Amino acid sequence: MMAEWLEALPRVRQVVGERNFETWIEPIHCVKDENGFVLQVSSRFFLEWVARHFLPVIRQALTMEGGPAPALRMAIAAAPAPEAAPRSPAPTDKPARSATPRPPKIGHLVADYTFDAFVVGEANEVACRAARSVTEAPGRRFNPLFVWGGVGLGKTHLINALAHELLNRRQRRRVACLAAETFMNSLISALRQHQMDAFRNGFREVDVLILDDVQFLAGKERTQEEFFHTFNALHTAGNQIVLTSDKPPHAIAELEQRLRSRFEGGLIADIHPPTSAMRVAIAKKKAALHGVELPLEVAQLVAQRSGPSVRELEGALTRVLATSALRGVPLDAALVETLLAPLDRNNRLSVEIIQERVSEHFHVSVGDLKSHRRDRAVTYARQIAMYLSRTMAEVSFPSIAEQFGNRDHSTVMHAVRAVEDRRRQDPTIGSVLLTLESELRSRAV
Ligand code: ADP
Ligand code: MG
Repeated sequence: MMAEWLEALPRVRQVVGERNFETWIEPIHCVKDENGFVLQVSSRFFLEWVARHFLPVIRQALTMEGGPAPALRMAIAAAPAPEAAPRSPAPTDKPARSATPRPPKIGHLVADYTFDAFVVGEANEVACRAARSVTEAPGRRFNPLFVWGGVGLGKTHLINALAHELLNRRQRRRVACLAAETFMNSLISALRQHQMDAFRNGFREVDVLILDDVQFLAGKERTQEEFFHTFNALHTAGNQIVLTSDKPPHAIAELEQRLRSRFEGGLIADIHPPTSAMRVAIAKKKAALHGVELPLEVAQLVAQRSGPSVRELEGALTRVLATSALRGVPLDAALVETLLAPLDRNNRLSVEIIQERVSEHFHVSVGDLKSHRRDRAVTYARQIAMYLSRTMAEVSFPSIAEQFGNRDHSTVMHAVRAVEDRRRQDPTIGSVLLTLESELRSRAV
């Protein structure tokens, strides 16, 4: 890209904010010809939107200090087809493919978030299969498709993969993929500038609307109302809607009932934390994307010693890969040992801290956790505290038993197994544990 454009980008980002930048500015391709700058975008809708909302900011950012405002215009350009080879004369009488304008793409896709790069396993199989099936026949079967799961478990990756797949197909569907927050921000500026028609038409013209993190709509009444109408218009026309959230529809507080029941009207698929086998596979795959073949032993150790979400796993892996590359040391288990010590060695995460945190979370006193009280709420909290002591503090069964009111160690073993089983079956426990785990981990460092 051109130097002037690259220099202007940070200034634009500062003014428009991160979300708008990703959605509207990043996808712009800027070129220069004898008449000045040309901002190329992929659709009419996109063009109108950028022209209305961001052109002045862009113009200002492109203006040299003390210089005149540069000549600037916008154009709809066909993005080069992904397989674009050096262009040679079309061999047949068919029109060249690049002559067909690309279907509109609202929002911003992450290029690396593809199905190829997504590891499928027990934890995300249903969601992944549903997403695949949506790409086969959008609007037909799972409509809406509602995918939910804890932070960093691959929701955004999955919907990006879905969008890429749709855009790569021959049907050239119109796909909008954006964060619920971006939807709201676009709505606010449309309202402010009396451009609701453009806003509505833009979203209602798409074949597939993908909205990420809809839990964000909680309590945003005006946005919910508008989205309800968008949803209905698309759904009635047989267009596909895909939503993600960090919780299931019934657990999103301050969500209008009519919207909730729309969300529940299709398929609800949840993503669980990955199993250890998946974690190993993910570590290997991510390393491969960096061009590194990760030895199995190293992958296993990284998978064991990183936080529960995939995002944390990736962070740990990046640290290991970067250290090996920068220091020129071999990528082996010894390196991982030095970088990622087990939690109980490099910090003071103790049974005591776990008990305190669990007690706060469930409103059960630490004394109760250590007591022999048997009512459900206390037993539940106690079992979770025992499970976390075992998995996060890596303390032995007898020692945990001792710190929970001198119990028998088989009670602890039973508790740990019970929580493990439930974690596999009940997504709610999964997300409770994930929350506690990441809080404890951040406390540990
Ligand atoms: P979420 O949207 O659920 O918070 P993301 O989709 O942002 O999570 O995922 C966080 C990171 O973990 C991303 O870099 C993503 O590529 C990676 N990730 C998550 N799940 C998988 C998976 N099954 N296979 C490969 N990478 C994954
Ligand atoms: Mg996300």
